[in-house]
Amino acid sequence: MPAKLIDGKAIAATIRSEIKTEVDAMRAAHHRVPGLATVLVGARKDSQTYVRMKKKACAEVGITSFGHDLPADTSQEALLAVVRDLNANPEVDGILVQLPLPDHIDDEEILGAVSLEKDVDGFHPLNIGRLSMKRRDPLFVPCTPKGCIELLDRMAVEIQGKRAVVLGRSNIVGLPVAMLLLHRNATVTICHSRTRDLPEVVRSAEILIAAVGRAEMVKQDWVQPGAVVIDVGVNAVDDPASEKGYRLVGDVAFDEVKEVASAITPVPGGVGPMTIAMLLRNTLDSAQRRLT
Ligand code: NDP
Repeated sequence: MPAKLIDGKAIAATIRSEIKTEVDAMRAAHHRVPGLATVLVGARKDSQTYVRMKKKACAEVGITSFGHDLPADTSQEALLAVVRDLNANPEVDGILVQLPLPDHIDDEEILGAVSLEKDVDGFHPLNIGRLSMKRRDPLFVPCTPKGCIELLDRMAVEIQGKRAVVLGRSNIVGLPVAMLLLHRNATVTICHSRTRDLPEVVRSAEILIAAVGRAEMVKQDWVQPGAVVIDVGVNAVDDPASEKGYRLVGDVAFDEVKEVASAITPVPGGVGPMTIAMLLRNTLDSAQRRLT
């Protein structure tokens, strides 16, 4: 039987409208709205697109955005100064430093300089550290992993006690999503490029989160019948039939896996829209926390 489609686009739209309602209420009660600062260094097309999408999403829900577009040769000191100014700016509730940063920049130092209270990306070492420990609450959880869990919750997928497999161990997706699943009492296996018998390990998953960046790597016979599949991957593959000459696919061979999974996210339209919705959520949470 074909899987239920987990419509991230629709779920994210619902979340954005919930956020807009809360922002309107904040404006009415406190004459203030949340503020998000975006810091972009250099002119990578993909990063420019992501920042533009984030600013547009902010505008739609009534969050003010402050853009800092800096040249690619910005020095470490100059970038640190921008971050420190934003830390001190009372109108800014969240600071997002768009990754990747140019090679000459020490991104660990930059991310560590973002005020813990404004770390809406959740990449501050202290927030990540708290996420990795039992009974410690980070102030913010990274947006893509948080979006994956939100999708499961909104689809009423029980996480507790389930066998979950996370494919990928990056700092921004694989590791934090594994931590979140563990906090929710799943039994978690993390796979990576050195994992032996990968299809067999993946087949043990009742919940599968794929975040490897390899086009359609997960095949039908890797997936246990009835598994819930969250596909984080975004990969461009050549497609002469499309206007752009390429199309986007996930890490999961969607057409075949949907025949065995019980629920699955599409790419595009699955996790992607949730990432931005969670960024708005984190920014609003930050503003609400600062008001109280
Ligand atoms: P990284 O390249 O940082 O990490 C990839 C992970 O996959 C690594 O842990 C790597 O293992 C593992 N891996 C790579 N190849 C294989 C393989 N053949 N077999 C098993 N494991 C493998 O990627 P990200 O985590 O940053 O991103 C993953 C995907 O998610 C990408 O497609 C990216 O575009 C997408 N993405 C989507 C977002 C969204 O909002 N929808 C947001 C962020 C990312 P090892 O550690 O051993 O190298």
